[in-house]
Amino acid sequence: MSYKITLIPGDGIGPEVTVSACQIVNATGVKIDWEVCEAGAEVFKKGIATGVPQETMDSINRNKIALKGPLSTPVGFGEKSANVTLRKMFETYGNIRPVKEFPGVATPYSGRDIDLVIVRENVEDLYAGIEHMQTPGVAQCLKLISRKGCEKIVRLGFEFARSQNRKTIHCATKANIMKFSEGMLKRTFEDIAKEYPDIQANHIIVDNCAHQLVKKPEQFEVIVTTNMNGDILSDLSSALIGGLGFAPGANIGDNVCIFEAVHGSAPKYAGKNVINPMAVILSAIMMLRHLGEFKAALDIEHALYITCVVDKILTRDVVGDEKGAPTTLFTETVIKNLGKRYEGIQDRAYKPISISHTKIPTEPVHVKERFVEGVDIFFESTQPAKEFGKLMEVAASEASVKLKLITSRGMKIYPATEGIELDLTDHVCARFVSNEPLNEETIQKLIHAVSKKAAWTHIEKLHVFDGKAGYTKAHGEE
Ligand code: NAP
Repeated sequence: MSYKITLIPGDGIGPEVTVSACQIVNATGVKIDWEVCEAGAEVFKKGIATGVPQETMDSINRNKIALKGPLSTPVGFGEKSANVTLRKMFETYGNIRPVKEFPGVATPYSGRDIDLVIVRENVEDLYAGIEHMQTPGVAQCLKLISRKGCEKIVRLGFEFARSQNRKTIHCATKANIMKFSEGMLKRTFEDIAKEYPDIQANHIIVDNCAHQLVKKPEQFEVIVTTNMNGDILSDLSSALIGGLGFAPGANIGDNVCIFEAVHGSAPKYAGKNVINPMAVILSAIMMLRHLGEFKAALDIEHALYITCVVDKILTRDVVGDEKGAPTTLFTETVIKNLGKRYEGIQDRAYKPISISHTKIPTEPVHVKERFVEGVDIFFESTQPAKEFGKLMEVAASEASVKLKLITSRGMKIYPATEGIELDLTDHVCARFVSNEPLNEETIQKLIHAVSKKAAWTHIEKLHVFDGKAGYTKAHGEE
């Protein structure tokens, strides 16, 4: 059996760490034809805005599996992240990030048996990157979370737990504050948990999850979470086991899987032969298990244990600049140790992961009854709340609706509440409601009426689905 796999060396330290991983995988005897492809900084320089050329897309589409080095992203301006583009283009909706104590790598947590997996939603949430400047001084980022996306990631979490015989799973959300978006993941998790009675399902608020991860990380086995939460929790968790040098990852889609380390391109270490290649090697181990090459995966795992514990060949991130082994020596030692067994650790029983459930197309959410009972219209305005409120009262009466309130960043400012002190911006929202369901004609009339009074920036309909309000109340709203 031989495999064709797309290899993206990437930027910065990427070429060094991927060469190390490929040499080790090749030395196991698993036959892989690596198709080397470009993405990242050099591609941006050629003027390809996605950072991913068509040939690389074609290769991944053909091969379905890729091993990828880190790609640099300009910060705060310019192009979108090529990493995020790749995840989105192939709908790799699940990002699996194992965090496991590594023998021979001393940390303040050594001996606590940390062995958890973060299953992070990978294509939705704030990382959709839908941002708009509402005014020159106020930015907005849309946090879109779908029931379908939640179902897929939750099922992946449970299936992953089963494939590794793990008995508990936590769902980490901020549903206490973001009741609709983060709450969607919580509700979906609680629904789907009923299908997995063999796994104990717990919900945890994400900030407490971060706290508990530092305090008692060994209590966690699998954590399923939204994109942004997962990004932060997984970096935090990797620090518990020795840092980003030990944090592998897999981007899982229905058709394509892309394996990559959690870390970035660490440009200051590029070409210095000092970087720890372990995270990409561990990602390659995940890839081998995904291919069903369980023996080769175990061989590499044991060769890594012997290299770190017996030979004490460790890179500078673990033992400091003076004693750190070069990346190439680390790689050669792992290859030399292939076939040896390290007795100090109990191997986990791995089964192929069953993601057939996640392939079942989930139905759109149907409701029996729906209507629009109002609209929120956002404005650029620096007028005092009282004056602005009066203008909106007039607009509301022109459209035969009622002005319920005006808010600034979610807090009621009109009608005024005694004793509150707010530092206002140039961005306000007027909530208009009606006793009758609002039709398009009334909404158009209202937009026309408010446009004469102030500059509106966007509008949201206040839906009611099956009798439940599909929007949150403002702070201070009755
Ligand atoms: P980074 O490249 O992950 O590096 C941050 C720090 O983590 C490094 O300075 C180093 O710490 C440590 N580190 C990273 N990789 C390591 C390894 N293999 N072995 C040992 N230590 C390692 O993060 P960044 O500096 O924030 O980002 C640099 C670029 O990478 C950015 O352009 C960013 O967008 C990109 N990035 C890409 C990906 C990806 O491709 N998936 C992920 C994250 C970031 P010390 O300084 O303490 O030695």
